[in-house]
Amino acid sequence: MTDRLLKGGVLVDGTGRRKADVLVRDGRIAAIGPDIVEASGAGVTDCRGKLVCAGFTDLHVHFREPGQSYKETIRSGSRAAARGGYTTVCAMPNLAPVPDTPETLALEQEIIDRDACIEVLPYCSITRGRKGLELTDFAALKGHCCAFSDDGSGVQDDAMMRAAMTAAAREDVILAAHCEDNALLRGGYIHDGRYAAAHGHRGICSESEWGQIARDLQLAEQTGCRYHVCHISCAESVELIRAAKARGVRVTCETAPHYLVLCEDDLQEDGRFKMNPPLRRAEDREALVEGLRDGTIDAVATDHAPHSAEEKSRGLAGSAMGIVGLETAFPVLYTELVIPGKVRLERIVEALTEGPRRAFRLPGGRVEPGAAADLTVIDPDAQWTVDPAEFLSQGRATPFAGMRVRSRIVLTLKDGEPVWQE
Ligand SMILES: [Zn+2]
Repeated sequence: MTDRLLKGGVLVDGTGRRKADVLVRDGRIAAIGPDIVEASGAGVTDCRGKLVCAGFTDLHVHFREPGQSYKETIRSGSRAAARGGYTTVCAMPNLAPVPDTPETLALEQEIIDRDACIEVLPYCSITRGRKGLELTDFAALKGHCCAFSDDGSGVQDDAMMRAAMTAAAREDVILAAHCEDNALLRGGYIHDGRYAAAHGHRGICSESEWGQIARDLQLAEQTGCRYHVCHISCAESVELIRAAKARGVRVTCETAPHYLVLCEDDLQEDGRFKMNPPLRRAEDREALVEGLRDGTIDAVATDHAPHSAEEKSRGLAGSAMGIVGLETAFPVLYTELVIPGKVRLERIVEALTEGPRRAFRLPGGRVEPGAAADLTVIDPDAQWTVDPAEFLSQGRATPFAGMRVRSRIVLTLKDGEPVWQE
């Protein structure tokens, strides 16, 4: 393993920033301090003018393998993640086969072991085949996955969700819920608001999300289960979770960059603006930003959800749900939230590092002596235009295409080894 000295950078975490050198040895952080003098022949990386943080953790990605490798693979997805500054990602289980038994999970893990360039932690499903009818065996699976989720759909049946939470509490595992009440969908595919009305589209109401969150928060309170809410998109969800946290419910949540910086006013008649949940009102966007600022929102996840160009070519009505996000997340957040002074850099970094790791009880997420050298180096002054043709992801659909952004990931180290370097 190569030793490396990151020289002259500014270390950033949730608590603040300070100028310090970081010495990496044998894959771990060996020393941090001002003016570390390099005597052991480690390669020196000039980090003057750069930010140095812990490698990012994304609690919500879709790497599509096994089953749909024409959309993304664990190889392409993990390389896209490394380029975005991520050293750990959690991969959702809407796969074929669904990882719902030790045997089907082993198929996914085999590909991860072979092809991933960063840490990829699989989810297992809450119910067999994600069908909502029969619980998976949490006890048999829990040592081998980061959490349980039926992401892609909500657990519709109240009794089934109660049973899942009871089992999750007993086995001390995390349930990560995609909250969506199918009874309220009525064929909708973008937010049920101004844009949908003006352009004749069928809308999804916010209650389809927050109604199920409200149900789940009650169940989580009654069962004592550790409950994580995926990709919240509306003001009511923020308020429900803020109140639940205040009364001691064991709940954490995430939102995604697109909900923090876009809203229905940004919609265009193009599949790259279509994801689930949808872009909502400007008021929802502002409530999410406030939730991120005050810590109600624990993590910013990408919900990186690649599809083929053809699947995203059918406009708002006909395209598949989902956009890519790993290669644009930090620059978008930095440009739209940090530079205008809406959210402090330290808070953004925390929501990409310690925040998600605490939520999922993963160690690390801080730049500390003795920690694994999972590190991300950022040039805050770089300016570039998002061009999906340059993505390492096989997915190209992003609402940020053509956007001029500030900041760029210039180096990502996983266990001290570069997995992305500009
Ligand atoms: Zn989802």
